[in-house]
Amino acid sequence: MKYLDEYRDAASVRKLAARIAGTVSRDWTLMEVCGGQTHSIVRYGIDRLLPASIELVHGPGCPVCVTPLEIIDRALAIAACPDVVFCSFGDMLRVPGSLSAGASRDLLGLKARGCDVRVVYSPLDAVRIAEHHPSKPVVFLAVGFETTAPANAMAVDLAFRRGLDNFSVLVSHVLVPPAMDAILQSPDNRVQAFLGPGHVCAVMGLQEYRPLSQRFHVPIVVTGFEPLDLMEGIWMAVRQLEEGRTDVENQYGRAVKEEGNLVARQLMDRVFETVDRKWRGVGNIAKSGFRLRDQYGAHDAERVFQVAEIEAEEPRECISGAILRGIQKPSNCPAFGKNCTPESPMGATMVSAEGACAAYYSAGRHLMQDRGPAGTEPDGHWPPDPKGAMADHVDSRSLRSEPVEGPSRENPHRSEWPSTGSGRTVTK
Ligand code: SF4
Repeated sequence: MKYLDEYRDAASVRKLAARIAGTVSRDWTLMEVCGGQTHSIVRYGIDRLLPASIELVHGPGCPVCVTPLEIIDRALAIAACPDVVFCSFGDMLRVPGSLSAGASRDLLGLKARGCDVRVVYSPLDAVRIAEHHPSKPVVFLAVGFETTAPANAMAVDLAFRRGLDNFSVLVSHVLVPPAMDAILQSPDNRVQAFLGPGHVCAVMGLQEYRPLSQRFHVPIVVTGFEPLDLMEGIWMAVRQLEEGRTDVENQYGRAVKEEGNLVARQLMDRVFETVDRKWRGVGNIAKSGFRLRDQYGAHDAERVFQVAEIEAEEPRECISGAILRGIQKPSNCPAFGKNCTPESPMGATMVSAEGACAAYYSAGRHLMQDRGPAGTEPDGHWPPDPKGAMADHVDSRSLRSEPVEGPSRENPHRSEWPSTGSGRTVTK
């Protein structure tokens, strides 16, 4: 296949759904790791095309969602400093802080108050701004998974080599395999197979996932983001489960190579070191993120602006931690679509369009809470009517149509998942 619309072909998707329905012999719970996958699954109603015995739960792979609240507060504190030029991708501008710092609610609010907050399309744009304004501190908000880390490493390394001491990054990078490890170690884990994160694996390759698959006896199918990718990934995972196999398979071969992107990985190794990181809604996970190596300390905004001590509390009623572990669904949260909406998000998974709560909301599922279980139409039949399955879904345009709303752009000896806000650490 060559063209995008071929990956959205409704007939091919339904054919695979029917094949899954003909294969499955018992209940299985699968987790898609990446927020982009969650968004596609909900937007195109993939979960509702599956038999009721296949449950999809949504993983911790939305980069905006898992960025800790205190990082937002630290960003607000830095951006409010006189003369600072604060640069960010656009999807972080409306993420609200805790307001504990007494600053504006979000970066956009600070911009409205006259602070120099700028949207950039690459961290290299921020390096250019630092070159053009040598007397001003220029800070880039570097969040996300292994997908965004190489470009941020490149920006820091470039600033270092050019002697741009006025350029720094506020780093909140997190890594996928430690989060999967923590999910699998959790005593209440329900996940029996993963749809692995396609874009992360395009950078990191498949090697890190083999030990996870072997140690926990779970199939991992690295999967793309289009409807046909997702349905094929689910089919490959279900086939492994039914056959009793636990391998790492690659559905997304057009983007993912066994070794990943070696140049990007070498650059990340040079600039970053692995540290314990806090995940929003989840807590600390050991060795699950990056920080700048000491050599690059002059470019670390937390050290330059001394904001590392700022902490923040999550709302108690939010269950996003359980959602990110696959234990709850957004529709189980009493605040979903009521006190918590994309315009006024309370928790991690509503702050970004790729978060599970935001994806459910934008697909209208806050209006559909009386529906039957996934895999059934309102009359409870499987397979659903070939026209009705898609037509009944809120995103009733054909799979070939454009999305309703595009995404914003990601110790084997201890068995403990940190609960929301507890600050406990999963030790590896
Ligand atoms: S709907 Fe809002 S409050 Fe409820 S889990 Fe999602 S983000 Fe948290």
